[in-house]
Amino acid sequence: MPAPDHYAVIGHPIAHSLSPRIHTLFSQQTGRPLRYEAIDVSPDALTTRVRDFFAAGGRGLNVTVPHKQSVMALLSRHSEAVRLAGAANTLWRDADGGLAGDNTDGVGLVRDLQDNLGLSVRGSRLLLLGAGGAARGVLAPLQALSPREVLIANRHEARALALAALPATAPVRAVALAALDRELEQPFDLILNATSASLSGELPALPATLMARHTVCYDLAYSLNETGFVRWARAAGAAAAHDGLGMLVEQAAEAFRIWHGVLPSTAPVIAALRPVGR
Ligand code: NDP
Repeated sequence: MPAPDHYAVIGHPIAHSLSPRIHTLFSQQTGRPLRYEAIDVSPDALTTRVRDFFAAGGRGLNVTVPHKQSVMALLSRHSEAVRLAGAANTLWRDADGGLAGDNTDGVGLVRDLQDNLGLSVRGSRLLLLGAGGAARGVLAPLQALSPREVLIANRHEARALALAALPATAPVRAVALAALDRELEQPFDLILNATSASLSGELPALPATLMARHTVCYDLAYSLNETGFVRWARAAGAAAAHDGLGMLVEQAAEAFRIWHGVLPSTAPVIAALRPVGR
């Protein structure tokens, strides 16, 4: 029997990645045999390791922190989502032998918000905390859902301003995280945390006045224990607080679709990965 096709996720660090488990569950569900591993690749080895992986017959790579931006330099073709995000998370070999890339983070977030959680963004006031790679990746897909307004708040204001200056399809403003309390004309309908501070417990105190009784909070980060932002949201009285597990599985499902031409069911995979009692 031929060896199954080889896929991997590269990052640094990568040991705790759930991607191998997610893609193995998708493979079992769809009956497509594959081998998927997590490979730790330091920034100085990125180019060589990516080229070697595909030269050895590798079929697809997922890319995570800190390589999503730098991997763009290796692509001969990329999607509009990659252009808008300035980052790629899904690579494969093109028909002409070059490397192609897509970014599935935005699709993943939108599917989790709309399909899994039943949330509507249209007409809502939206607060996006953070202006790093993930924030940039989800900004255009969120705007496409026609929110009334997006406010981007970031620790370093300049990065929030740079994000807000990108071509926009909905009104976008930017503010320094520390000045957020000055921007509170009315509470937000949806607050998304796209900072990496939630897992390390470094997220600064947020004004409780961001929140009304109907406000929903969503942390792009995911961990086995409740994230710092989800904890804050529940304590501050959010109507609901979700972590990024659903987004993680949805962005993986879209990568699986790109590689295999079939979109797996995500609900059983999310349920299998969700810790008991959460
Ligand atoms: P980046 O390193 O690109 O950006 C980090 C962001 O966090 C920046 O806005 C940075 O602000 C902010 N930040 C870092 N430390 C602090 C702090 N102590 N206080 C306030 N803000 C801080 O990371 P990514 O954008 O790639 O990832 C962000 C999060 O999104 C991560 O937790 C990641 O796991 C998650 N993610 C989840 C996905 C999913 O599928 N669920 C997919 C992609 C990402 P500044 O610019 O001021 O430094």
